[in-house]
Amino acid sequence: MKKRVSNIEVKKINRNRIFRYVNNRERTSKPEVAAALGISMPTVLQNVNELMEQGLVQEVGELESTGGRKAAAIAPVRNAYHALGIDITQNHLGFVLTDLSGTVLKHARVQKPFADDRGYYKDMGEAALEFLEREGGLGKGFLGVGISVPGIVDNTANQIVRSHALGIAGVDCSRFSEFLMLPSVFINDANAAAIAEIYHAETRFNAAYLFLGNSVGGAIIQERKGYLGDETANDRLYLGDNWRGGEFGHMTLVPGGNRCYCGKEGCLDAYCSAKNLSRHTDGKLERFFEEMEKGNKGFEKLWEEYLSHLAVEVNNLRMVFDCRVIIGGYVGSLIEPYLGRLQEKAAALNTFEADGSYIQACRYRVEASALGAALQQVEAFVSTV
Ligand SMILES: [Zn+2]
Repeated sequence: MKKRVSNIEVKKINRNRIFRYVNNRERTSKPEVAAALGISMPTVLQNVNELMEQGLVQEVGELESTGGRKAAAIAPVRNAYHALGIDITQNHLGFVLTDLSGTVLKHARVQKPFADDRGYYKDMGEAALEFLEREGGLGKGFLGVGISVPGIVDNTANQIVRSHALGIAGVDCSRFSEFLMLPSVFINDANAAAIAEIYHAETRFNAAYLFLGNSVGGAIIQERKGYLGDETANDRLYLGDNWRGGEFGHMTLVPGGNRCYCGKEGCLDAYCSAKNLSRHTDGKLERFFEEMEKGNKGFEKLWEEYLSHLAVEVNNLRMVFDCRVIIGGYVGSLIEPYLGRLQEKAAALNTFEADGSYIQACRYRVEASALGAALQQVEAFVSTV
């Protein structure tokens, strides 16, 4: 009996690995799948046939031959299923439509100051449904909604434990989705952005993801050396004992320093949130950099100070985790031209290394949190194939 069960398990795992392999590529072939995954040709053939019957894989002509017989090309049918991501911030709602490709197909951002009342949740639900209808996401293959929030999410209790940014504590997730009437899952905004970052990466890596939005958060990504396709992106996040793993924003950077919105003094957030820069330009971070580039000396000085504080944090993360540090969030999406300066400053603090090439800018710069939230629904589906 035990042996039979394990055979069924192996069959399921093989099928899932085959689908993920195909789904992660524009096109491939059955021999290529067999070789890459080390699965026998008859097993690959049988599974690909089943996936084609299900409408998840299709034949798309022939692959370029490197000699010998040409192989039939196969490709994923990605637009059969859609998912919606919503990013809730203090003042905005972000929307992303994705499909099995896991990319941003459509996105929108609207101003909507958060308020913990039925009016807000009703407006949010309506705005989300409007977006879905406009972009053609609703229909038979709609998988569900992922909602990203700037706070601590307890997925076991389905509760927002605390969000300083939204000013709420102990709120049931169902309150957010009451007017959506669609299956919804919740995730912390920085964790969501980190998932977007690792979802498409070809290779696995450890990383500390430092989310520099209007508040500062973070996520801890583990490489996990399991075989490809046996776990979801979520499994690779270290969440800690109380769902607070990676809350880098409230690490004490300057003892007795600037007041943080959390009520404590000297937190990283009080020095490195995007607001510390954008408050000089009416909340528009792009304008801060534009004016600095035009030669605003005051802004240059502010930016140097900002980078000095950031370098301390980045170096500390490097010391704790010994892995790459990815700069994400609002600041991360604009930091590329200044990465060299940050690397220089961080390297100067480092006991072991003379260069800071372990510091990178995030790859996903548009609605990363909303995308990562939606990817939870995509993953949930893909893991059942
Ligand atoms: Zn704080």
